[in-house]
Amino acid sequence: MICPYCGHGDSRVVDTRTTGEGIRRRRECLACRKRFTTYEQISEALLIVKRDGRREPFDRHKLTQGIRIACAKRPIAMTDVDRIVNQIEEHLFSLGKAEVRSEVIGEMVLGKLKELDPLAYIRFAIVYMEMEDVETLQRELDRLRAERK
Ligand SMILES: [Zn+2]
Repeated sequence: MICPYCGHGDSRVVDTRTTGEGIRRRRECLACRKRFTTYEQISEALLIVKRDGRREPFDRHKLTQGIRIACAKRPIAMTDVDRIVNQIEEHLFSLGKAEVRSEVIGEMVLGKLKELDPLAYIRFAIVYMEMEDVETLQRELDRLRAERK
């Protein structure tokens, strides 16, 4: 996102709100530190390609719900979930693509949850990565355990 004041290409998001029109963000330029607002029409801008080849508009709410479910009853603040969603959304839009495979998003969520909470990570993996058999789950658990040592 180009800064309207100095033209610098990098900014950080200081606030994100969903409005009727789309997503409203307050950004701070990393160079001149001035703040500006952008509006994004997310649902029309990005399509998610599902495993079966179907496409559907990116749905921030749905992504949030999925992560929230994985984090249920874990010591994870809603602000953490929002932060993950914001980071993923930022990243998706920075790719500048019209379509993104659902697995790409799944991997991104898993990467974030892994840092945050191993149990939420496993839950998300089971549901969204279609981890269907116990062997796959066991392998993932072993891998996680080895990484945490
Ligand atoms: Zn600037």
